[in-house]
Amino acid sequence: MRYDFSNILHKKHISTHEFMVTYTSCIDIKTQECQASQKYYSNIFTMLTQTFKEEELLALFAELAEFKLEKEIPYIVLSNEVYNLENFIMANISSTNFSTDEIINAMQLFKHINNKIAYIYLTKYINTLMSKNNIRRSSLSDLVEKNIVKHYESHLIWLSNLAKHIQDNDTTDFPELNHNACAFGIWLHNGAKKIIQNNSKYNSIINVHNNLHIFAHKIYDILQQGDYHILITYLEKCELMSLSIGTELALLDQIRMNKQISKDSLTGSLNRNALKSIFESQYELSLATNNHFVLAMCDLDYFKIVNDKYGHVAGDKMLKLFVQTLKKDLRNSDIIIRYGGEEFIIILPTLSREKGYQVLDKVRERFSQVTLEHEEHIISATVSIGMVTVKPKESFKNSFLDEYVMIADKNLYMAKAAGRNCVHAY
Ligand code: GH3
Ligand code: MG
Ligand code: MG
Repeated sequence: MRYDFSNILHKKHISTHEFMVTYTSCIDIKTQECQASQKYYSNIFTMLTQTFKEEELLALFAELAEFKLEKEIPYIVLSNEVYNLENFIMANISSTNFSTDEIINAMQLFKHINNKIAYIYLTKYINTLMSKNNIRRSSLSDLVEKNIVKHYESHLIWLSNLAKHIQDNDTTDFPELNHNACAFGIWLHNGAKKIIQNNSKYNSIINVHNNLHIFAHKIYDILQQGDYHILITYLEKCELMSLSIGTELALLDQIRMNKQISKDSLTGSLNRNALKSIFESQYELSLATNNHFVLAMCDLDYFKIVNDKYGHVAGDKMLKLFVQTLKKDLRNSDIIIRYGGEEFIIILPTLSREKGYQVLDKVRERFSQVTLEHEEHIISATVSIGMVTVKPKESFKNSFLDEYVMIADKNLYMAKAAGRNCVHAY
């Protein structure tokens, strides 16, 4: 099919540059990526000012989509840019004397463009999803103690299977659509309640899991219509919901583990000898659930002085008070480990750097304000904290623990050097 929009584009004199500034998501027009993106749009605009064939324009948009994918620019960004271009053209077409047929054809053309772009993104997304799911599954199988989170593996298999059916545009032997009948659903609606115990967590997992199956059902209905735009959006939703189920199960395991592992007799925190296995399982779980976690090294400030001035018993009481104070701001799934005398490691699962910093700074602030009464003395102390965010991308290596502890330690040193009673994150 041939098109000719030349009179509306000539009349309006919109340049590629104006389009980029007004309608695309590029914040800084000077960046290299924007300049490269402008080159693709420039070709598209040139074609739109002449008579062109549909396939030729689709090929230009395909190139644009490949470029954006290579730069890891999300689908929603490109699809929004194309939506803006479509709106611009349709608004101008309607104000000229184009016939109804021509308007319908133009709408049809943009439908094809959108679908072509969505298909390119969907294909890449499915390939990435399947390989990520393989890594997630191998992280789960590397866990020494699997506990609750092992049930999440069946949903990763289910999700890969769903992606494969979309890839093959195949509705035969579709992954189980009934949320009560998939392997995870059978466990969830039978044995899980007794194990999970926490009612609100249990209900929220049930809700997410139900919604996940509702989206899978929608995917099944849409599949043979070939609407890739909706398919990619729904599949992204399914992945996010699967990951959030995994995250909830992993946090529940963490709470169980915190209760079971042997404790330091003075403070009730975990023993240092648990650190290696806790770190490794936290790493594997984060990789499997696409999360970050924070590791922080805490060291009480001028603690020798507390001991020297008020005695060792007072020092011991202060260590206990420190752990009690920590617990006020931490979640049940956070982990406190006594690393040495007055040094503690805190692990905060599923938190980003910003959130982790906020929590740790709150902890630091609270500890600086509590006081200890000992033999008619009112004693206070402060803590310095060095933190590091762990963002697992590759399989676990034994050297990781030392590497991250070293970074946290360096940051702790910086916090001490900055005057103590502060958190250092860089
Ligand atoms: P800084 O701010 O540089 O950390 O100063 P600091 O005085 O805390 O220095 P450092 O970390 O070198 O000293 C730690 C002190 O903590 C040494 C020891 O007396 C004390 N300590 C270590 N373990 C215990 C314990 O289990 N109980 C008591 N009461 N004190 C301890
Ligand atoms: Mg120390
Ligand atoms: Mg100290």
